[in-house]
Amino acid sequence: YVAKNSHTGVRVYTSDDDRNSPRRLAMVADLREAIQRRDLVVVFQPKLSTATGLVVGAEALARWHHPVHGFVPPDEFIPLAEHSGLIRPLTLHVLEVSLRRCASWRRMGHDMHVAVNLSPNSLQEHDLPDIVERLLGQAGVPASALTLEITESSIMADPTGALVILDRLHALGVKLAIDDFGTGYSSLGRLRELPIHEMKIDRSFVQRIAVDHRDRAVVRSAVQLGHALDLMVVAEGVEDEETLLHLRREGCNLVQGYYISKPLPADEFADWLTARVPQLGGA
Ligand code: C2E
Ligand code: MG
Ligand code: MG
Ligand code: MG
Repeated sequence: YVAKNSHTGVRVYTSDDDRNSPRRLAMVADLREAIQRRDLVVVFQPKLSTATGLVVGAEALARWHHPVHGFVPPDEFIPLAEHSGLIRPLTLHVLEVSLRRCASWRRMGHDMHVAVNLSPNSLQEHDLPDIVERLLGQAGVPASALTLEITESSIMADPTGALVILDRLHALGVKLAIDDFGTGYSSLGRLRELPIHEMKIDRSFVQRIAVDHRDRAVVRSAVQLGHALDLMVVAEGVEDEETLLHLRREGCNLVQGYYISKPLPADEFADWLTARVPQLGGA
C-alpha cells in the first residue's frame, strides 16, 4: 500500500514492510548507489552563541533526493542504512564532506567547528578513531573543530565498548555531544563518566518553553545539570525570538533552529555566514 509522506505525498516503504520486501530491497539498492556515487547531499545548520550572537559552528545533516521518489527524510533513510550495512559508508561520506567544508570556512576566516551525527553502530567500530584521525589530517582541520553527536541510547547498547571508542576520540581532541538529551534512558551517573563536551536538549522540550512553564522548568534543570557537569548546553529547534530570549535567560550557551536558519546547502551556508552580522550582540 502507499502511505502519506509529508514531503512527496508518497511513502516509499514503511517500517511495517518486511525486511526483505521487494520495495525495501530496492530502496536499499538505490541508497547504496547514492552513497557510492556521492549523491547524498550534506546540508549545514548554524549553531549560535546566545552570549555573543556569533556563529560558532554548524551541524551537518544528510539529505537524499531519490531520482524517482524525491526527497526522502533522514528519519526514513538513516534507519534503512543502519539496518542494511550502509551506515558506515554513509557516515564516512558525511564526515569527509563536512570536514572539507569546515576547512574552507576556516580558510575564509571563520573560526568554526562542524558537528556530525553518529549512529549507534559507529560506536561498535573500533577503527572509527583511526579513520576520524585520517580524515581530519586529509582535510587539514584540527580535531578540536570536529564535534561528533551521539545519542544516549547508542551508548547504552554497549556502554563499555562505546566508552573505549569515545575515550580514544576524546584523546584525539575531538569533541563529543549528547544529542536529543532527555529522550533516552541515560543514567545520570553514566553521563558523568562520559568524556563529553556538549549537551543538546531535544527540541521537544525546547519548542514550547515560551508558552509552557513546565517545559521551561525541564529546560532549566537540563541547563543546570549540563553546567554542573561542565558541559556546553545547546538547545535545538528554536523557532522564534521569544524562545531564544528564554534560552538566553536560562543560560543556555548555544542555540540552533529555524529562527536562526534552516539547514542550508554548503554554498548557501558559506554565503549566509559571510553576509551575517551579529544580531544579538550579547544585549
Ligand atoms: P538531529 O541530529 O537531532 O538533528 C536535528 C533535526 O532537527 C534535523 O532534522 C533538523 O533539520 C531539525 N531542525 C533543526 N531546527 C529545527 C527547528 O527549528 N524546528 C524543527 N521542527 N526542526 C528543526 P533532520 O535533518 O530531518 O534529521 C533528523 C535526524 O536524522 C537527525 O536528528 C539525526 O538523528 C538523523 N541524521 C541526519 N543526518 C544524519 C547523518 O548524517 N548521520 C546520522 N547517523 N544521522 C543523521
Ligand atoms: Mg544531531
Ligand atoms: Mg538533536
Ligand atoms: Mg533530534
